[in-house]
Amino acid sequence: MRPVRLLAIAPRPFEDELLSCWHWRVASHYSSSPRQIENWICAAPGGSNPHLLSQNIPTEQSATRLWALASRLQQVDLDRLSLQATGRSRASFVSDPRHRGVCPACLDEDAEEGSDHYFRRSWACVEVVVCPRHEIGLEINCGGCFRSGLFQFRSTPTGVARLFCRDCDAVVSARRFQRRNQVDLLQIASLMREAIGKGGSEFERIETASRFLWSPRPEGMQYIVSLGLPLPYGQRPLVTAVTSPLTSLPPAWRAVTIAAIADLLFGVASKAAPLSPSVREAFRQFERGTAPEYHRASLPPRAASVIKLRAETEYRQLARGIIGSQDWKALPSKEGRARNRAIGKLMHRALNNG
Ligand SMILES: [Zn+2]
Ligand SMILES: [Zn+2]
Repeated sequence: MRPVRLLAIAPRPFEDELLSCWHWRVASHYSSSPRQIENWICAAPGGSNPHLLSQNIPTEQSATRLWALASRLQQVDLDRLSLQATGRSRASFVSDPRHRGVCPACLDEDAEEGSDHYFRRSWACVEVVVCPRHEIGLEINCGGCFRSGLFQFRSTPTGVARLFCRDCDAVVSARRFQRRNQVDLLQIASLMREAIGKGGSEFERIETASRFLWSPRPEGMQYIVSLGLPLPYGQRPLVTAVTSPLTSLPPAWRAVTIAAIADLLFGVASKAAPLSPSVREAFRQFERGTAPEYHRASLPPRAASVIKLRAETEYRQLARGIIGSQDWKALPSKEGRARNRAIGKLMHRALNNG
């Protein structure tokens, strides 16, 4: 048996923690990554499977065993943190870690208790878009700079792990502004959880409904944006999400999808926009497989995300317009973020008004 090096510091896992979160918390104490830690544990740089730690469902039990040995833990203590241990199907978890939100209020409580920030296992479930404890939406955007992307675990000088925004280096927290109460979505989520837990045809219907809602209508727009439901930040949805919407959407878009599914399948109509009979009929046809051709065909990946390019001369004209404008003259003189942001805003405005 290969000898295992022991880690000097390895925080104990929390009861409801996600396995990959624990890996990152351990690594943060060494300003390192889980993969580097594993290489060090095995004393075999570059020798381990690079995909071993990218998932919470360990492909090799041995990886968990190594981590447990190096951290003086029982393997069962780590096994139970994996998503596999929940007994739910893999298709019921958000696959892209960047689209699993966090509850900033839960993280604030961690900090108040003097413990590490940590990622709750339930936050990876497709139906969990609101924190049941604080009744606010899970977030992927920084409350300071509003950029989205993966937050990063870092160890603070006092030796606790905190989630930081990679862009503005602020600690993730709910203290900056008041969030909207979203208790209505909690009830919907619990109906979904129950159906997902039953598995089989109940879960299949949820998946079918989500595909229906994200399938294109004749004019190219998906159903989900034409139902009159309040949409996140007024943005257009990510069109690449059509193949497996629930597992690939960020929390705010999952929330809209889940609300529409609850109306379609569970008779819980949205107060803002109950579904029309024609939409229900379209769904029935979709389920039976008798929907029109345009609707049944799933979009090829990224097909709808192809950018509508304009003529070269039009771009030149837009650029001239920007350079000739007063706003261009008022740009911050120094290179840097403020200047880049201001240029981005001018480009955005020109492209959208053109
Ligand atoms: Zn919370
Ligand atoms: Zn930030």
